[in-house]
Formats: sequence, structure tokens, C-alpha cells
Amino acid sequence: MNAKLLLIEDNANNAYLMRYLLEKAGFTVYEASCGAKGMDLALLHKPDAVLLDIQLPEMDGYQVLSAIRRNAELAGIPVIAVTSYAMSGDRERIMSSGADGYIEKPIDPDSFVSSVSLHLTCRPERKTTT
Ligand code: MN
Repeated sequence: MNAKLLLIEDNANNAYLMRYLLEKAGFTVYEASCGAKGMDLALLHKPDAVLLDIQLPEMDGYQVLSAIRRNAELAGIPVIAVTSYAMSGDRERIMSSGADGYIEKPIDPDSFVSSVSLHLTCRPERKTTT
């Protein structure tokens, strides 16, 4: 898989593991540790999908998702939320906020890449402005 992914994650260990697994599988990975940098990289690289942590400093994942959906250049990009299993209300909330998918932390190294790939290849049609 040759897709470009943007990873927005503030935890260095999580980011390292996800990046390692994705690059090993052939993805190009751009990485941001906060939402504002994530938005900059999204506009610069127009990734095929965004992997979005929810608990982020300053802009949290909900704010980043909202900013992506309100930006005409980015609105159609699939956003996969990555957040901790312990935050039990997050799944419903992030999906109803417009995320396309959801992956739980801790990341399962055996299934993470296939979960990401599934969201890239099998997702609802979304109207884009481009
Ligand atoms: Mn976090």
C-alpha cells in the first residue's frame, strides 16, 4: 500500500510504534504532535487519511476533526480516531463528530495495519470539493 498517512499523536511511544508498523507496510507517514501542526501538514501533503489521537494538548482531537471537516481542501479526507479503550464514551462521540473509523489503544501490532487499510479501502462515500 502506497498511501500517504498523517499521524497526529502527542505520545512519542505510540507515534513511534504506529509509524514503524505503517512504514514497514509501505505507507508514507507524516507526523505531528499537536493539532495545529497536524493541520499544517494536512494542507501541505493532502494525505489519503488522518490517524487522529483524541487526547492532544491545546486543540484536542475533536477540535482537529472539526477543523478538517470545515476546511474545503481537507473535508473529504478520511479520519480514523485512535484513542484509548478506557475512554468508553469516546467512540460514539468521535464517530458522531464525523470520524470515519476508530482504532483503540493500546495498538495491537498484529492488526493495526490491516485496520488502517480497511478504513482506506472500505468507507462511505463522502462528497469532496475537489
Ligand atoms: Mn494523546
